[in-house]
Amino acid sequence: NMELSAKVRQLEASPTLAISTEAKKLKDSGKEVISLGAGEPDFNTPQHINQAAIDAVNNGFTGYTETIGIKELREAVTKDLAKRGLEYDNNQVIVTTGAKYALFTALQSIIEAGDEVILPAPYWVSYPEQIKFAEGKVVAVETKEENRFKMTAEEFAAAITEDTKAVVINSPSNPTGAVYTKEELQEIAEVAVDNDILVISDEIYQKITYDTSAVSIAELGSEIKDRTIIIDGVSKAYAMTGWRIGYAVAPKDVITAMGCLQSHSTSNPNSIAQKASTAALTGSQEPTKKMVKAFQRRRDLLVDLINSIPGFETIKPSGAFYLFVNVKELIGSEINGTVIKDDQELADVLLHEAGVATIPGSFFGKDGYLRISYAIGEEDLKRAAEKIKDLVG
Ligand code: PLP
Repeated sequence: NMELSAKVRQLEASPTLAISTEAKKLKDSGKEVISLGAGEPDFNTPQHINQAAIDAVNNGFTGYTETIGIKELREAVTKDLAKRGLEYDNNQVIVTTGAKYALFTALQSIIEAGDEVILPAPYWVSYPEQIKFAEGKVVAVETKEENRFKMTAEEFAAAITEDTKAVVINSPSNPTGAVYTKEELQEIAEVAVDNDILVISDEIYQKITYDTSAVSIAELGSEIKDRTIIIDGVSKAYAMTGWRIGYAVAPKDVITAMGCLQSHSTSNPNSIAQKASTAALTGSQEPTKKMVKAFQRRRDLLVDLINSIPGFETIKPSGAFYLFVNVKELIGSEINGTVIKDDQELADVLLHEAGVATIPGSFFGKDGYLRISYAIGEEDLKRAAEKIKDLVG
């Protein structure tokens, strides 16, 4: 009997992948398509990191490693956190197959059936699916654009019930690029501590900020640190998405449980990629700084380009490489004979009529918006904006 489990049947396949597939189909049929859908840096992994991987292979570092990751990488993680005043022992770190799997094992380790997890919307697409897979209940909290899509402490407090187990904070955010200030996090931390709620702090974009730096909620005192699971990794900051190395940093009991689960699922993450990631965290940070500078130039360019398109309106975010663009004015309007009924239809029309791929905000739990990535070159950004303007302007 090949009937699928209820647990897996409730999952929704990644909708962002469906758009890339459609975009690729159009490209293959000879159409020009510019993708503003990318969730990864368009830069190559820096050469000193590649070299560490080559050395690992040549030195025969190709066997199993410690399940929770090699000590030198876990130490590199604690040293990196110590730069921000965050003191952890290396047995409070687990290295995983991408940050996504760190999040997965963390949720599996802390959530019991029926536990509620508070999720500020808009949110990254994998959070609700992973929470559901852990048999938790997603409690989405609608945020306001005038608060730059950040959940306030009041909104957080209002969503708490006796079943609330955890809250997810993603700063800088995918899809909005929003960065919480220290004061905002302080207020959220107080609510979390008062109500005995765990915090999952996804800091995968922590090193990609402009005009500001991203504070971790764990920096705000021992009470909140002791109830926070930091999720991070090398994918975004070092242009290493394909290497699949992430990590979680948390109280030791949580890490031990995650390690046990990992020992029976993926075992250790890739040994070669662990050596490369050690080089990423301990080596020169200049390539990352250069990449962030390029992102900042593109952000400034793209915000102006987007705001010059009728019906498109966006604020300037302080981190990650996305704009979350308000397109509510275009819903109900007619473009090339199609009456646009929602953001998904708009994204569809932009893809087919203008050859520009974007991601509808509703995929992230917020209707009436598009997520636009600037992880592509400036010429392509300009061309994409022109094409959209020609269609809707
Ligand atoms: N968290 C957020 C908010 C992300 O946007 C992503 C990647 O898109 C991840 C985690 C996963 O990162 P990784 O590729 O290391 O699994």
